Amino acid sequence: DRMIIAIDGPAGAGKSSVARKVAEQLGYVYIDTGSMYRAVTLMAQRARVTVEQTAKLADLVKSLEIELEPGEQGQSVFVNGEDVTALIRTREVTLQVSHIAANETVREVLGIMQRKLAERKGVVMDGRDIGSHVLPQAELKIFLTASVKERALRRYREIVDSQSITLAQLETEIAERDRLDEQRDISPLICAPDAIVLDSTAMTIDEVIHAIVKLSRT
Ligand code: C5P
Repeated sequence: DRMIIAIDGPAGAGKSSVARKVAEQLGYVYIDTGSMYRAVTLMAQRARVTVEQTAKLADLVKSLEIELEPGEQGQSVFVNGEDVTALIRTREVTLQVSHIAANETVREVLGIMQRKLAERKGVVMDGRDIGSHVLPQAELKIFLTASVKERALRRYREIVDSQSITLAQLETEIAERDRLDEQRDISPLICAPDAIVLDSTAMTIDEVIHAIVKLSRT
C-alpha cells in the first residue's frame, strides 16, 4: 500500500537528496517543506516585513499561493505564479528562515498546506516537524542526522565558490539554525518517539536511500 514517509532532521543532514531519490525509487511524490518556509522568507524580505511584525507576517503568509512542482532536477517552487526555485536558496534567505519559521501563523498556514499535499498517499515529505507534528499518522518516520562537522563539510563541498565562506563559518551557521529550530515554542525540530533514527555521518547517500527504501518494504 502507498504510504506517507516523513523524513525529519537538522540542517544539511541530506534530507532533500535522500527524500527525492526515495520518492523516485518508490514512484512517490517528493515534498520539500523547507522550501515553503524559504518562500515565505523571501516574500517577507521583499515586502520588508520583519520577524517582529507578527501581524503583518501573518497577513503576508495568508496572501501567498505556494505551489510545489516536481521536476527532473528536483522540485520547483512557485509563489503567486512566480518561479522562485533559485531565489529561495540564497544565503540571505538561509540566514533568516529559522526566525520566520518560528511565527505561529506561518507554521499554521504552511502546516495546513502540507497536510493537504499529503492527502494523496504515496508521498515522501521532508522537514523538521513532519513526523512529530504535521503528519503524526505517517506510516514511516525517519529522523536523519549527522554530526554538525560532517554536515558543514558536505555543504562546503556543494558550494562552488567556497572562497566566499569558510568551513568554520558554515559550521557556526548550521549549528545556529539547529538551535533556533530545536528551541522554538511551536512544533520544534524533534525526533518523534516512533521515528527511526539514521545517523548518516559515516554513511553514503546511497546507503541511506537503500536503508529507507528497505524499511518502507518491511
Ligand atoms: O530544509 P531547509 O534547510 O531548506 O529548511 C529551511 C528552514 O525552514 C529550517 O531551518 C527551519 O527553520 C524551517 N523549517 C521548519 N519546518 C519544516 C521545514 C523547514 O521550521 N517542516
